Amino acid sequence: MKNHYDLIVIGGGPGGAIAARTAARDGLSVCLVEKRPAIGVPVRCAEGIGMEALAEFVKPDPSFISAEMKNAALVAPDGTKMVLESKMAGGKVGYVLERKQFDRELVWQAADAGADISVKTRASSPIMKDGKVAGAQLEFCGMKKDVTADVTVAADGVESKFSRWCGIDTTVPLREIMSSAQYLMTDIDIDPHTTVFYLGNKVAPEGYLWVFPKGDRSANVGIGISGKKSGTGHRAKDYLDRFVASHFPDGKTIECIVGGVSVCRPLPCTVADGLVIVGDAARVVDPLTGGGIYNAMFTGRLAAETAAKAISNGDCGKEALMPYDAGWRAAKVGKTIERNYHIKEYAIALTDAKLNDLIQSASKINLEHFSTLQLVKELIKRNPMLLVELAGLRELLKQ
Ligand SMILES: Cc1cc2nc3c(=O)[nH]c(=O)nc-3n(C[C@H](O)[C@H](O)[C@H](O)COP(=O)(O)OP(=O)(O)OC[C@H]3O[C@@H](n4cnc5c(N)ncnc54)[C@H](O)[C@@H]3O)c2cc1C
Repeated sequence: MKNHYDLIVIGGGPGGAIAARTAARDGLSVCLVEKRPAIGVPVRCAEGIGMEALAEFVKPDPSFISAEMKNAALVAPDGTKMVLESKMAGGKVGYVLERKQFDRELVWQAADAGADISVKTRASSPIMKDGKVAGAQLEFCGMKKDVTADVTVAADGVESKFSRWCGIDTTVPLREIMSSAQYLMTDIDIDPHTTVFYLGNKVAPEGYLWVFPKGDRSANVGIGISGKKSGTGHRAKDYLDRFVASHFPDGKTIECIVGGVSVCRPLPCTVADGLVIVGDAARVVDPLTGGGIYNAMFTGRLAAETAAKAISNGDCGKEALMPYDAGWRAAKVGKTIERNYHIKEYAIALTDAKLNDLIQSASKINLEHFSTLQLVKELIKRNPMLLVELAGLRELLKQ
């Protein structure tokens, strides 16, 4: 590891890996540091991603894809099932990844492009020079080393501390943290090509429960509930255990994870002097679905591109990095987050009776494009009153 790089990236998830890969391919000197001893583990993710979204960043490969999805189904509190099919997607709409392999592959590609990689290396504080972020102090096997950089990328995930140490308020209100638990289960009866979402206040208050197939008889079975609904006897894991006992009593759990997902709006500003914040650390997560893999990669790439320009112009101050912040907000990623934030706020207030009505209105929906927007539009067709209830969203739904 050198003492100085053009770019230092903190975190080896999809956001950090794509930032490092992009910058290295652009000819910058890059160092990516990851506090865990290995990239990709433990997996804190249901591993779902859209087909096109994945292909924008990496050639899909069986080595990191567990299963291909053809349909999605929503299950109402009363058990009514609505199946979403896509007529435009050639029978495939998304993948369930094997993130242990996927995250490694991305970091591997960053290394192949010339980035230095250092695992078991924690960024423990920023280096500040004249009020600007100028790199990070790193801890590796009990040793400390200061590494300076023109630009530092904070890609340290939902539990991100780095930006806070740089003076940025990254607090997420309790009601906007989804408390999650997930089992990797095997020996269960599932449709291996359909992701299933269970809704309802008894199943997953202000959240949802998912079954994302990983093979013919295995799946990620997980749940996210609002942090404010969590407490003794009714934590995410308690709801999940009840569901598993009734739906998959003979299934075997071979992995168990817990974690948080932010479903708030993104940080008000995702740059500072010498610093760019990407992915979960920037709260650039879809507030409706909790999905953040694509958004992390998108912001990681844009962060590196913006940093490369700033470095070549010899100015890495906040203003020079602002095109990153403005760029992702103006892109589809930013617009989708804003729209889905409103839909999420509407959806979490729905009673079980209203959810039953909505889902009963359509047992089968054929979508032109497999997206939340298409789903909402189809539901509005069948429930015109929705348009009144989502009045504030009319403009956002047009996008
Ligand atoms: C239960 C659950 C289910 C989910 N399901 C999905 C899904 O199906 N689809 C989807 O798109 N998204 C899903 N997500 C969200 C998705 O996992 C994240 O949005 C995505 O991983 C964000 O990528 P990232 O690179 O920003 O952060 P991360 O993947 O979290 O990577 C951050 C990395 O930074 C490292 N790090 C942290 N601090 C430091 C430090 N000080 N020094 C060095 N390294 C550090 C961490 O160890 C970590 O490896 C889910 C999340 C959870 C919790």
